[in-house]
Amino acid sequence: MSNSKIIQRDLSILWHPCTQMKDHETLPLIPIKRGEGVWLEDFEGKRYIDAISSWWVNLFGHANPRINAAVREQLEQLEHVIFAGFSHEPVIELSERLIQITPPDLTRCFYADNGSAAVEVALKMSFHYWRNQGQSQKTKFITLQDSYHGETLGALAVGDVALYKETYAPLLMETITAPSPAGCYAEKGESYENYARRQFEAMKALLEKHAHELAAVILEPLVQCAGGMRMYHPVYLSLLREACYQYNVHLIADEIAVGFGRTGTMFACEQADISADFLCLSKGLTAGYLPLSVVLTTDEVYQAFYDDYATLKAFLHSHSYTGNPLACKAALATLDIFAEDNVIENNRTLAKTMNEATRHLQDHPHVGEIRQQGMILAIEMVKNKAKREVYPWQERRGLRVYQYALEKGALLRPLGNVIYFMPPYVITSEQIQELAEIAQGGIESAIRE
Ligand SMILES: *Cc1c(COP(=O)(O)O)cnc(C)c1O
Repeated sequence: MSNSKIIQRDLSILWHPCTQMKDHETLPLIPIKRGEGVWLEDFEGKRYIDAISSWWVNLFGHANPRINAAVREQLEQLEHVIFAGFSHEPVIELSERLIQITPPDLTRCFYADNGSAAVEVALKMSFHYWRNQGQSQKTKFITLQDSYHGETLGALAVGDVALYKETYAPLLMETITAPSPAGCYAEKGESYENYARRQFEAMKALLEKHAHELAAVILEPLVQCAGGMRMYHPVYLSLLREACYQYNVHLIADEIAVGFGRTGTMFACEQADISADFLCLSKGLTAGYLPLSVVLTTDEVYQAFYDDYATLKAFLHSHSYTGNPLACKAALATLDIFAEDNVIENNRTLAKTMNEATRHLQDHPHVGEIRQQGMILAIEMVKNKAKREVYPWQERRGLRVYQYALEKGALLRPLGNVIYFMPPYVITSEQIQELAEIAQGGIESAIRE
C-alpha cells in the first residue's frame, strides 16, 4: 500500500479535526503506518520525529513496550463495563494513586473520556455545588485572555481563542475574561513575576466585583498552550488561590495539557505550592494511549452532593466510556514508568538541552521571544523584532515551518507564528539538536517573502 493510495481513500470519506479540508489539495496528508519511540513512519518508510507528542498526549514514545503489555493484559480480563452501579480494580487503583500524587485536598475522582468533557464536568460541578448550598445565583465563570479549555460548547465558552470561538459566539454562555498574566506581554525589561503581579490586580478587581455571582475561576496553570504557548509566573497562581478563598469562589485548574511533567514538575500547581477545588487531567494521563479524563475534587464538594435521593442533589452527569478499564490500565502503566524511571529528574537534563540547542536563536532578527517551562519550549516568529510586530495570520508563516519540517523528517506543528517543542520524554539529546536545526531552517524558509 503506497502513501498516495491511502491518502486518496482518506480524502474521499474523512473529515479531519482543526482542518480546512481544501488545504489538502496542496498540503499532503501524512498517513502513518507505525510508530516506535519518538518516531512516526509512513507507508513508504519515511520517518518523522514526533516533536509535539501527537498533540501533547504522548509521554513515553509510540508503541511503548511496557504500556503495550499492561493494556494487553487488561484486554484478556475486561475491556469495559458500565460504571454506574459497577466498578473494577484498574479504576480504583488509578484513583488511589492519583489522589496520592496530585496536590493536597483532592480526594475524589470523577471520570470522563476526553479533556473537554472533564472541563464540562468541572464547570457543572462547581455551579451545582453552589446551588446545593443554596447559592443558585453563583452561575458565572472567570476565564483568562488567550485561554483554551476544549471545543464543546461549555468548554469553548470559557476559552478565549478567537479562531475557535468567534463563529460559535451566539451559542455560548457569557463569561468574564481577565487580562493575560503571560510574560510575553510584559513591558520591555519587566520581569515575568512583576508583570504577573501587576496583571493580578485586574483579576482581583473582577473577583471583588462579581464574587456574589461567580461559581469559579478556570485557568491553565503556568502555560496557556493552545493560546500560543504563553507562559506566566507561578506567583499569579498563589495570589489567585488566596483570592478565591477570600471571595468564596472555586478554582478550577485545567492541567489537561500541562499535567504529568510537562512544566518540569509532575503538576504545574506544585510550582506555586497550591491546590485547586477541581483539577482536570487528560492527555498525558494515559501517555497518549487511550482517551480518558478525570476531575479530582475535594471532600467538601463531594459532601455537598451526598444526600437522600429525593433531595435531587446528585451529580447525574455521565459518559458511556467513563472509567474505561483499558484506559485506566494504560494510565497505571504510565504512573509506573514515572515511579520507576525517575522521569521528572531526567527531564531536567532534556529541558536544559532544549534550552541550549535553541539559545542562539534568541538573537535572530525574526525571533521575538524564546520561552520555556520545563519540557515545553516555544519560539515566537515576528515580522519586526524591535516593534514586536507579528506576521499577519493570513500569511500562514507557521504553515511553511510545518511543511519544511515534514520534508526534513519532523512533525512540528506551529500555533500561528509560534513554533514549539513538546516532545515525548524518550527523546534524545541528539534528536533535540536535530529539531533545533530543523526549526531554524524552518524559520529561514518562513521569513522569505
Ligand atoms: C486539549 C485541551 C483540552 C481539551 O481536551 P480534548 O481531549 O481535546 O477535548 C482542554 N484543556 C486544555 C488546557 C487542553 O490543552
